[in-house]
Amino acid sequence: MIRVGVFGAAGRMGTTVCRAVLDDPELELVAAIDPLHAGVDLRQLGIDAPSMQISRSADALADAQADVAVDFTVVDAARENLAWCADHGVHAVVGTTGFSPSDLDALRARFESSDANAVIAPNFAIGAILMIRFAELAAPYFETAEVIELHHDQKVDAPSGTAMLTVERMAAASDEWAADPTTKTVVEGARGGVGSAGIRVHSVRLRGLVAHEEVLLGTTGQSLTIRHDSYDRTSFMPGVLLAVRGVSQRPGLTIGLDPLLDL
Ligand code: NAP
Repeated sequence: MIRVGVFGAAGRMGTTVCRAVLDDPELELVAAIDPLHAGVDLRQLGIDAPSMQISRSADALADAQADVAVDFTVVDAARENLAWCADHGVHAVVGTTGFSPSDLDALRARFESSDANAVIAPNFAIGAILMIRFAELAAPYFETAEVIELHHDQKVDAPSGTAMLTVERMAAASDEWAADPTTKTVVEGARGGVGSAGIRVHSVRLRGLVAHEEVLLGTTGQSLTIRHDSYDRTSFMPGVLLAVRGVSQRPGLTIGLDPLLDL
């Protein structure tokens, strides 16, 4: 049995993770942490669980002797939670988005000198991981590309971590991208944000959506569209559980789920 704690247990993703851990016979949910919801019983959140109260601080993970902590919070909290995990030898599986490249460098150094490992993945949906891989494979055959990411209307960071990872991987796969032709911008931001290698990223926030992304690639006389849709947060759970099982075997910091899928 792997003993699992969940940071952000009262959140949209956190409650889904608690359910998925409880439903998995090889995992045991031993702690749920969410400071502003401390004292709330998981059953009050509609989670069909033995009685467990949400704790205020990460110390609950140490008290419960957790092997792995899963974090779906906000980036400022996740930085602190990850530091705690590295210092206390608890492996971390992180879905929180919004880390900067310098955050990731600092975390890499911290986990390399820790007994604990970390897997950080901006998207745990298998289809999204394949979308990024397909975009990377296609990149050298096209000169123009843009990414449109679409999310629910409560998402606080933009662009999404998945979109940022998509453009980074495409930029690493090809350095032959055409220059942007725009010389006159009528509405500021109309051409989106500029990601790696100048690839444009457009963020849509719309009530009713969950997490969606389209990668558009164009060359003479043809285009290719690669689209992934997560309709429900359960779409992320097989990837989260895979990382929970695999994190102890991956020393240091692993970014993305690809290595755990042998992609
Ligand atoms: P959410 O519903 O706002 O949940 C976040 C939860 O974390 C909230 O309950 C929040 O409490 C809590 N929290 C804040 N600070 C905390 C701390 N220090 N310790 C523990 N809990 C803390 O957000 P969500 O939709 O679940 O998304 C969470 C994150 O996951 C976002 O960054 C999102 O982009 C990301 N995400 C990733 C994937 C993926 O596959 N990697 C998929 C979906 C979402 P309060 O409400 O009281 O602030």
